Amino acid sequence: MKPTVFIDRKVPDEVKAYISEHCAVEAWEDESTIPRPLLLEKLAKADGLLTSGRRIDAELLDSAPRLKVVSSISVGYNHFDLQAMRERGVIGTHTPFVLDDTVADLALALMLGTARRVAELDRYVKEGRWASGDGVKLFGRDVHHATLGIIGMGRIGEAVARRARFGFEMEVLYTNRSRKPEAEQQLGVRYAELKELLAQSDFVVMLAPLTAETTRMIGREQFRLMKKTAFFINVSRGQTIDEAALIEALQDGTIAGAGLDVYEKEPVAADNPLLLMDNVLALPHIGSATDKTRFDMAMLAAQNLVGALTGSAQPHIVAELR
Ligand code: NAP
Repeated sequence: MKPTVFIDRKVPDEVKAYISEHCAVEAWEDESTIPRPLLLEKLAKADGLLTSGRRIDAELLDSAPRLKVVSSISVGYNHFDLQAMRERGVIGTHTPFVLDDTVADLALALMLGTARRVAELDRYVKEGRWASGDGVKLFGRDVHHATLGIIGMGRIGEAVARRARFGFEMEVLYTNRSRKPEAEQQLGVRYAELKELLAQSDFVVMLAPLTAETTRMIGREQFRLMKKTAFFINVSRGQTIDEAALIEALQDGTIAGAGLDVYEKEPVAADNPLLLMDNVLALPHIGSATDKTRFDMAMLAAQNLVGALTGSAQPHIVAELR
């Protein structure tokens, strides 16, 4: 008998068709989020779940006694309660590699956008202030040949480093749990302790995953180590930084600006002070959001799900659950 799978969000038809070749599929087709009680009901008979970003906790797992695999359409998996999954023998999979270049492109967009004030000056032109000659200084800062500090030199970190080194001829420092000799050799990047990286960089890009260790790893003390002319870019997860400390650092001129794709709470509240600052470039968590990459992620998540349930292919199981 085919395993039973529940898909809790809209996915491309090709992705659903692929899963249907191997599994009995039920899917939530609505644009809105499936109400949790209904999801728990659906999971009662499911062997697999295809999802993205949904909290996978003990309550959910306990209502899904047959569940063997949760396949997430994302590379980050901080929404997995790893302990609860481990205790129940549930596998968790994610979608590494297929999104690296797309997310790296966005990190560069945030660097260029903050340094050259792209969104701010777009508003300036569209509001007719250029035409009215209000005398605002339009200068920004250079990205090329500046120093970049990458926190978390993994797959995406390396893709950012490659762009920075070979595209913008930047000096690149990185900090990581472990040294990356291959990246040092191939990309010409230099390892630095966090303190040194913060003090020397013109752009600091956060790319470490959200874990107990990285929660709020950048706070008031760390922002104070940065140059007053430096920009902080976050494409990882909002909770890796102390958002109140970031707001303070931007308000009092401790740092020059920030480019943010992620926030402590998402969607970010309309009255969040970050959204009122001209030196903040704010995006709605779109790091991997291109048509092709989102399709590739959904298809890889489908292959992970089918692979884990049928043994037909090796799924990308998250490191802690292997
Ligand atoms: P990855 O390949 O696992 O890289 C993460 C790197 O962070 C690893 O090299 C890891 O070091 C390092 N790290 C872990 N804990 C650390 C710590 N305490 N201090 C310093 N470095 C630490 O992951 P990835 O594919 O590059 O993705 C990185 C993160 O980007 C994801 O976890 C996700 O949160 C975020 N992301 C965001 C978007 C978006 O839409 N904005 C899209 C995709 C991904 P080791 O090598 O020693 O383990």
